[in-house]
Amino acid sequence: MGDVAIDKDGETMRRVIDMRSDTVTKPTDTMRTAMANAEVDDDVLGNDPTALRLETEMARIMGKEAALFVPSGTMGNLISVLVHCDVRGSEVILGDNSHIHIYENGGISTLGGVHPRTVKNNEDGTMDLDLIEAAIRDPRGALVYPITRLICLENSHGNTGGRCLSVEYIDRVGELAKKHGLKLHIDGARIFNAATALAVPVDRLVQAADSVSVCLSKGLGAPVGTVIVGSTNFITKAKILRKTLGGGMRQVGVLCAAALVAVKENVKKLEDDHKHAKLLAVGLNKIQGLHVDISAVETNIVYVNICKDSSTNAAKLCKTLDEHGILVMPDDDYKVRIVIHHQITVNDVEYTLSCIQKAVTGALSEHVE
Ligand SMILES: *Cc1c(COP(=O)(O)O)cnc(C)c1O
Repeated sequence: MGDVAIDKDGETMRRVIDMRSDTVTKPTDTMRTAMANAEVDDDVLGNDPTALRLETEMARIMGKEAALFVPSGTMGNLISVLVHCDVRGSEVILGDNSHIHIYENGGISTLGGVHPRTVKNNEDGTMDLDLIEAAIRDPRGALVYPITRLICLENSHGNTGGRCLSVEYIDRVGELAKKHGLKLHIDGARIFNAATALAVPVDRLVQAADSVSVCLSKGLGAPVGTVIVGSTNFITKAKILRKTLGGGMRQVGVLCAAALVAVKENVKKLEDDHKHAKLLAVGLNKIQGLHVDISAVETNIVYVNICKDSSTNAAKLCKTLDEHGILVMPDDDYKVRIVIHHQITVNDVEYTLSCIQKAVTGALSEHVE
């Protein structure tokens, strides 16, 4: 089983197995050492060496000219959309189930005056190309229409369970954008998960994109931060907007040092995360009363459906698991979301499966272990 700790009374206690998200990872000892030893300076003045090192490295890995460290994925997407849509009343085409549209406070509208035009997200995270094209405004209608300037994709796609957009699909959206004089932004909060699952080099995967926002504090396990990448011109404008939004940070190298360790050490662990997610999915699907669409588990996210005639529901199951040191989140009344990251072991997965099995059959409270 997973690591054990000794509590005050000398009892052995299992550590908490936290699978609410891949944002819950704790910085590793190597990260903390790197943070303590980071060489820093004022990054608003542009000379924090560790921040510059991270940005150079991320631009190289992503195959773009330049990069910028920002505090969060939300700010990374906001800055990117606003740089591409620098005229108020611009319109962006994005998925109706996308993170930018649902979970970012509508910032592109409230702060940027950008109008969202949603297109239906399919179950695999794509939007149909003909629907995207149909949503592009005819510039001849500029007297009444907003002006389309940007298309946003999300890869992997969070709300559809971490499913991946293929390089062929992204290239085709890129061609469509070019044909209509639009920019393409990828919300790549989990782009390394997608690249790993697809076995495509990450720079190739985002080749068609004008900008990408990459979270360092999801599966990569850094404590804080996102990097946006794009052309030198894009990053120059992004840097000004970051300051406007209050995201200029001073000795930020302490954070970038951890992020550098994350990129160096944890990208290669994503493959194991995906294996563990699959293992969990297959195991859960064998439990009477639960259903997992295994083919939809492409990366590190598992959605478990609880049969409506079961004796439990999502809230009850999460509560029972919580009492046994396992944290997961309900997604709706009969659906639970479980997210794997590098601090979840095979043993954790096996323990979780046995607890869920017992919880669903109502046997968990009688015998815990
Ligand atoms: C987490 C996430 C973000 C934003 O991340 P924050 O750092 O929490 O602001 C953006 N897009 C997707 C798909 C995400 O999963």
